[in-house]
Amino acid sequence: MIVVMARDTSDDDLNAIRERIEARGLKAQISQGVERVVVGVLGSIPPDFKDEMELMNGVTQVVMISKPYKLASREFHPADTIIKVGDAVIGGPKPVIMAGPCSVEDEEQMVSTAKAVKAAGATILRGGAFKPRTSPYSFRGMGEDGLKLLRLAKQETGLPIITEVMATADVETVAKYADILQIGARNMQNYNLLDEVGLIGKPVMVKRGLAASYEEWLLAAEYVMAGGNQQVILCERGIRGFETFTRFTLDVAAVPVIKRLSHLPIVADPSHSTGKWYLVTPVALASVAAGAHGLLIEVHPNPDLAKCDGPQSLTFENFDMLMEQVNAIASVRKQPVTAG
Ligand code: PEP
Ligand code: MN
Repeated sequence: MIVVMARDTSDDDLNAIRERIEARGLKAQISQGVERVVVGVLGSIPPDFKDEMELMNGVTQVVMISKPYKLASREFHPADTIIKVGDAVIGGPKPVIMAGPCSVEDEEQMVSTAKAVKAAGATILRGGAFKPRTSPYSFRGMGEDGLKLLRLAKQETGLPIITEVMATADVETVAKYADILQIGARNMQNYNLLDEVGLIGKPVMVKRGLAASYEEWLLAAEYVMAGGNQQVILCERGIRGFETFTRFTLDVAAVPVIKRLSHLPIVADPSHSTGKWYLVTPVALASVAAGAHGLLIEVHPNPDLAKCDGPQSLTFENFDMLMEQVNAIASVRKQPVTAG
């Protein structure tokens, strides 16, 4: 349930609302907008509670929402969420490009890639130190040593870092090095992990699960937000279809759908969704044209030698060309971030 109040609602009226909500064993989440104050009521709402709220001072409207997610919904928070990390503004009109290798391998690889992607216009550096691999025999990442190399690349270039955290026990360590924590597709429904990253004061990017509906994905974001962390970014990374030529199928409609349902920034990952380097640029351009707030792109100095995801990694040269075209498409977007 959402309680809408006038912008000039007094503190006393707002406190009375909060106390009444809490007296029923529910949680009040207050969002102070420019035109109104919106109070999200979280928990299991008793049947007569709507009528009760409508009669209280300062209340202009009470809306029952059928959607199971609230904090992540547009109704609750009409304005777009903007997340600032370093020089990047995620959720604004300019697409933010996060780029780097699939996994951190060594200092030279990380620093050279960081410099190359920065020169081409990326504003966030990616690289995995904890890697979710289908086979336990594949390279599973360098762990904390990899995080140290990410920090080194950040010191060299100033680029903030996004990197994946796979286990609740690693959240504190990863948060020491990362500017954004990534929840991978396979962990989108790891609720203990979502709870844990809900407690940190850093942005979290939640990738869409391999077979997750929009609602399940937004509920994963809701977990993080319900823990107190409102800085959530969503990432469409492709879903399972029947086609095996591509690795997954990027659902380009997810971009405008999520912008309609939610105020959270939505970025696209054409690398993991296609699995092939020559499909990355076309699918990146489609995502940007559809309104994506950013892209996650895998780039490697020598994709043939990459320890992970070489076939989908762009060379520095191809990444330069992608950036030129992304900027061109972004410049003709008209209403990049408003709700439909
Ligand atoms: C990644 O971004 O490194 C990754 C493993 O992606 P996903 O979780 O989308 O497969
Ligand atoms: Mn990868």
